[in-house]
Amino acid sequence: MNRSHCSRGFDIAESIAKRVGLISYGRVGDATAQLVNGDPFLSLVVDVLAEYPGLLLCDVPDCERCAYARRRIAGLE
Ligand SMILES: [Zn+2]
Repeated sequence: MNRSHCSRGFDIAESIAKRVGLISYGRVGDATAQLVNGDPFLSLVVDVLAEYPGLLLCDVPDCERCAYARRRIAGLE
């Protein structure tokens, strides 16, 4: 099992992109679409994660993946 990924906390990345104006929203047919300016967004997320490595982890109490990631960040695994 890949225990290093959990997508539940990734909405925080969208919030960051919104805050700095790197995301726009539109419609493609009946679907809502997001357009992200990829290179600056990725650079920003890498910089933010260097400072706050647990930023994109979710807050679901029994999420084993994020609990594992938190132990790794803390140097316990
Ligand atoms: Zn999680």
